[in-house]
Amino acid sequence: MSNTIPATLIPGDGIGPEIVDATLAALDALHAPFDWDRQIAGLGGIQAAGDPLPAATLDSIRRTRLALKGPLETPSGGGYRSSNVRLREEFQLYANLRPARTIIPGGRFDKIDLVVVRENLEGLYIGHEYYIPIDDDPRAVAMATGINTRAGSRRLLEFAFEHAVATGRKKVSIVHKANIMKALTGIFLETGIDLYERKYKGRFELETVIIDACAMKLVINPWQFDMLVTTNLFGDILSDLVAGLVGGLGMTPGANIGADAAIFEAVHGSAPDIAGKGIANPIALMLAAAMMLDHCKLPELAARLRKAIDETLNLDKVRTGDLGGTASTAAFTKALVSRIGGGN
Ligand code: NAD
Repeated sequence: MSNTIPATLIPGDGIGPEIVDATLAALDALHAPFDWDRQIAGLGGIQAAGDPLPAATLDSIRRTRLALKGPLETPSGGGYRSSNVRLREEFQLYANLRPARTIIPGGRFDKIDLVVVRENLEGLYIGHEYYIPIDDDPRAVAMATGINTRAGSRRLLEFAFEHAVATGRKKVSIVHKANIMKALTGIFLETGIDLYERKYKGRFELETVIIDACAMKLVINPWQFDMLVTTNLFGDILSDLVAGLVGGLGMTPGANIGADAAIFEAVHGSAPDIAGKGIANPIALMLAAAMMLDHCKLPELAARLRKAIDETLNLDKVRTGDLGGTASTAAFTKALVSRIGGGN
């Protein structure tokens, strides 16, 4: 096929296949030119191939350099290492871009338009953890090592600052905990201030804010923020908080961006509590697909998808349960597809 864009598709675990099917229906209705290579990972990888990240999946992304991914389950405590973290490492996807916008007006937090830029490869998230035995307890002490590098911080901060300039953001807040983790998050803070002073001063306002105060401020007055840029673990937590401001985890997409590959996904996980019930909200993954269309220089298709989501929610009032509605995933998708068909 000519003029198609090869892309890897990973349906994922839990609600993954349900929201991926819904998103594919929307992309098909848009005639998005993706040529999908379906692959497995996560729990699905273990069940089908005994491996949470099979070689065929990695090979596919090495070829396409582009993927749309449903959530992947990672066991808590023991078990295998997160396939999400391994994918980010393998393809050096150092920036995680997580926009959150109010789509349904009139809620507790109206008119939110925020973006969280999360460092995706370093920090405490690298999972270098150890136990120290004492007496007869082999796991008497637990330790974790966090690593932040100046080069890694600069690369991410440069990405964030460039994105701020390109998208007309007025203010960037560097979120840190350098009062306590003086080295680990201090290096990130220091690198950000230095980069701003040298290259970006005057192009947007820069402020610095400590993570705990930032969490409180986001709940009291989120409108004071525009873009938050932060280290891996803080970005993980803050992006769920920010999702809560715009209607919950069903509403926020994420893009994992590297120098020569990108993987698009929802911020949320596999939601095992509602998997298989046909009630998951597919919007977060659909918005991730819109980011993927933008990334592939197809902004008209991305705009049509976002408009159709807006109209389905606000004109047709078709909403899934997490948004206070009664629609199933299939009913929402059907309404959305008919909006796309009638759009333009
Ligand atoms: P979760 O995000 O899966 O679910 C948290 C809550 O939000 C649940 O009540 C769930 O029902 C609800 N929810 C999430 N997405 C929803 C949607 N689209 N529609 C309606 N409700 C939705 O978080 P969790 O339960 O802590 O994690 C479950 C699994 O997902 C874990 O194994 C975790 O490691 C994994 N996870 C994967 C990713 C990823 O693949 N990027 C991200 C986060 C968590």
